[in-house]
Amino acid sequence: MSAPVLSTADLLRIAAERSGGEQRCPSCGGLHCPGWEAIPGGFDAGGLKQVGTLRDPEVHEPTVEEYHPAGTRTWDADAPIAPAFHPYNQSDVLQCAHCHRAFLRWTEYGGYYQEARIREINPELVVQAL
Ligand SMILES: [Zn+2]
Repeated sequence: MSAPVLSTADLLRIAAERSGGEQRCPSCGGLHCPGWEAIPGGFDAGGLKQVGTLRDPEVHEPTVEEYHPAGTRTWDADAPIAPAFHPYNQSDVLQCAHCHRAFLRWTEYGGYYQEARIREINPELVVQAL
């Protein structure tokens, strides 16, 4: 079974499910990723479950354009989360099984490497841009 393709509204709903306030979660507390970060070595991702994806299988050549109307850059912690744009259109949506904190995961492909990146979903940064 493939992961469901999520809409911007789904993303907001999932990001709002977080519980536990500011307490450090035993499963995902090791992740500090307001912007895209490499998944820390040794981090046990087993506590995160994939709840969906933003990769639309109908789109064969997803855009590599990014959405930065305020002049932010890819790696900025305040860059908008725009599901129709790169790299969000290549991301899967994960959720901590323990506290329901939600994350995006994207595999960055460089010339000679690939790197798993993760970013927490801050609902305030999610934008419906087309
Ligand atoms: Zn957690």
